[in-house]
Order: sequence, then structure tokens, then C-alpha cells
Amino acid sequence: RRLIIAVDGPSGSGKSSVCRAAARRLGAAYLDTGAMYRAATWYCLDRGVDLDDEAAVAVAVEELPLTISTDPEHQTVTVGECDVTESIREARISESVSEISTNRAARALLVAAQRRIIDQAGVVVAEGRDITTVVAPDAQVRVLLTASAEVRLARRGLQMGGGQPAEALQRQVLARDARDSTAVNFTEAADGVAVLDSSDLTFEETVDALVSRVES
Ligand code: C5P
Repeated sequence: RRLIIAVDGPSGSGKSSVCRAAARRLGAAYLDTGAMYRAATWYCLDRGVDLDDEAAVAVAVEELPLTISTDPEHQTVTVGECDVTESIREARISESVSEISTNRAARALLVAAQRRIIDQAGVVVAEGRDITTVVAPDAQVRVLLTASAEVRLARRGLQMGGGQPAEALQRQVLARDARDSTAVNFTEAADGVAVLDSSDLTFEETVDALVSRVES
């Protein structure tokens, strides 16, 4: 059976946890495409690639030895021999990832890799910024998961659990969204894409809403 559930949305929309939970409930594979951009960023930084050098970034992404699991129970990302599952979440990666995601050649390579993974998965929940529009516009279910800026920032604050001053964190999240939307416009739903606004929904209600789109 082949079934693609494509979900896009900004950071802090709860996309990753909602999609992983939905994949579990559906017995589907789960693909976090953001993790692939993060892994590419980790690799470029590890190799000392100048992120302003577009050609050098493209070459690095072309040779990126990336493995990403599609098991919603066990998310692991490895680059070569290195397990980067945790380190791709570091602030230094979040701060630099837009340099990779605005690189057209790098995007083309990662989109192609994502399509291969989705093709092999059969039934899959794939999430990112351009899944409903570029990676899998033919998906049977296409959803833009949104939440108001206030709610997204509050959820981020909760998620990251103190440490950093809330205001600095809020600026970072909004700045990354602004940088991201120069590469892909994910703030408005494309034709045929349903908007799921989770601002007033609990986590479980949001998962239910996504899963019910598959079942209907
Ligand atoms: O989803 P996450 O916040 O982990 O994504 C990290 C970054 O990867 C985003 O800020 C964005 O720059 C990039 N991205 C993208 N297209 C996708 C998924 C992520 O450009 N499909």
C-alpha cells in the first residue's frame, strides 16, 4: 500500500511530535526532513566548509553520508560513522541551518533524497516546509500545520525548558522563520492543502485531527 501524508509548518508548530504520534497511530513510517537539513549543516560545520561559499556547500551536501531512520519509535540520524541525533538539535545548528536550506543546489539534492526515502517507505508521514508543495505535491493528504506566533513561542519555551532567557529564544525562532521563508513559502497553504491550526487544540486533539484526515 502506498500512502503519503505530507505536513508542512513553521518551527514550534508542534509538527515533529504531532507527525511522529500520527505515524505511530497509523503504523506508518515517519520522515523528518528538517533533520536532513540539520545533518547537512552539521556535516558542513564539521568539515569546516565556508557556509557563504555556495559551491563548497553544494559539494559537501552531494557527498553527505547521511542515514536517517524512518521508524517513529526510534529517530536516529547518522553522518558517516557519527550518530548526530542529538547534536543536530544544538543552537549552533539551528543558527546556521538556513545557510544550507537557502542553497538551491543543496535543496535539490536533499529533495531528491527525500523523494527516494518516501518512495521506499510505502505509508509515510513526511514533515518539513516544502513537502506539500515540492517534495510530494501528489500526496493523498496535504496539511499545513500552523499555530499563532504566541502559541508557537510559548510551546518552544516549554520545550526548551528554561536556561536561555525567553526573549532571546523568541527572537531566534522568529528570525529563523523569517530566514526560512525566503527559501520556501510555507506560511500560506498552497492549492489543495488543508490548514490545521493547532493554536486552540491540545496535542492529542491535533494528532486526532491529522489522523482523521487520513481515515476520512
Ligand atoms: O523542522 P526543523 O526546524 O528541524 O528544520 C530545520 C531547518 O531546516 C528549517 O529551519 C529550515 O531552514 C530547513 N528546512 C527546509 N525544508 C524542509 C525542512 C526543513 O528548508 N522541508
